Amino acid sequence: MPSNRLTYRKRQSYNTNSNKVRVIKTPGGELRYLYIKKKPSAPKCGDCGIKLPGIPARRPREYATMSKPKKTVQRAYGGSRCANCVKDRVVRAFLIEEQKIVKKVLKESQKKR
Ligand SMILES: [Zn+2]
Repeated sequence: MPSNRLTYRKRQSYNTNSNKVRVIKTPGGELRYLYIKKKPSAPKCGDCGIKLPGIPARRPREYATMSKPKKTVQRAYGGSRCANCVKDRVVRAFLIEEQKIVKKVLKESQKKR
């Protein structure tokens, strides 16, 4: 009966987060460790924290080799904030500008008196 004890195939010998393995059986019938890559986490909206729709979850190194249009959506704050939060920001900015105009008009009408 063959031994069921396995050894790491790389020089790192601790059970760290970057050294996770799975046992597989090779086509030759041999048991061997298969190295598991770290799980990617999806980019999140900076305001509400939901996963950004339309942007794939990848490891940072993979983002570096991806083209720009695959990492963003064509909108202001595209790859950083979700659509609802951008909408809120636009509305808030609009209302602030409107308030400024109203204040200005009031001031001018008081001056005329
Ligand atoms: Zn959001």
